[in-house]
Amino acid sequence: MQLEVRNINTFYGLSHILFDVSLDVDQGEVVVLLGRNGAGKTTTMRSIMGLTPPKSGRVIFKGKDVTGLAPFRVARLGMGFVPEDRRIFPDLTVHANLEVGHKGSGGKTNKWNYDRIYGFFPRLDELSNRRGGTLSGGEQQMLTIARTLIGDPDLILLDEPSEGLAPIVVKMLGGFIDTMKREGVTILLSEQNVKFALKHSDRAYIVDNGHIKYQGSVAELEKDEDIKKRYLAV
Ligand code: ATP
Repeated sequence: MQLEVRNINTFYGLSHILFDVSLDVDQGEVVVLLGRNGAGKTTTMRSIMGLTPPKSGRVIFKGKDVTGLAPFRVARLGMGFVPEDRRIFPDLTVHANLEVGHKGSGGKTNKWNYDRIYGFFPRLDELSNRRGGTLSGGEQQMLTIARTLIGDPDLILLDEPSEGLAPIVVKMLGGFIDTMKREGVTILLSEQNVKFALKHSDRAYIVDNGHIKYQGSVAELEKDEDIKKRYLAV
């Protein structure tokens, strides 16, 4: 198992947000965490990455207990986080944004070097000298993913990547997810776009009010209209 989350409880101040959340992601899998607005998807991602460390429970990554480690240490162990709000550096060029990702990973020589990244995201190659802030939402999302990939992660946490993107860009994003999977990157995705998520994932969890309410294969969930109606806005 590449990632094992065991009974984590996470708080913001006194507010108890996650209740005994457990989930597994196997090497090479794409697993999606579904749930409505405010269900606890982002908090789960932040807890795994160490940005909002859980008060109890364990996060085991590649067999190592990373609970409570600083996020940059978790990143150096091979976990990449693509936050929902796409925190690119607006005043830096696209290329300089990628350099930040490369240095952040310890500057090692990577499988995902600049040539491969630009080959994978040709649009970023065209825009490499443009300032990040001038990019469209979809281009910024690509840049955030590219910046994470260049750090050569074994596991990528993708937090609601399709949010706010036009349908054609969402389709492109799905293509990138499929290709990353083929390249052996393990992905934990969080999504509200159920149709998109199920198309590109192997397994699914549903979080509701900070509790895991469902886990199963995508094929099972696709058939389960009752569960989808109860916990997802579909
Ligand atoms: P969204 O689609 O809105 O990102 P989500 O499923 O990712 O939803 P979270 O962002 O994890 O949900 O939020 C879970 C709960 O935690 C919500 O009730 C939210 O109001 C609360 N919350 C989130 N961030 C904070 C914070 N910094 N301080 C206090 N409460 C917070």
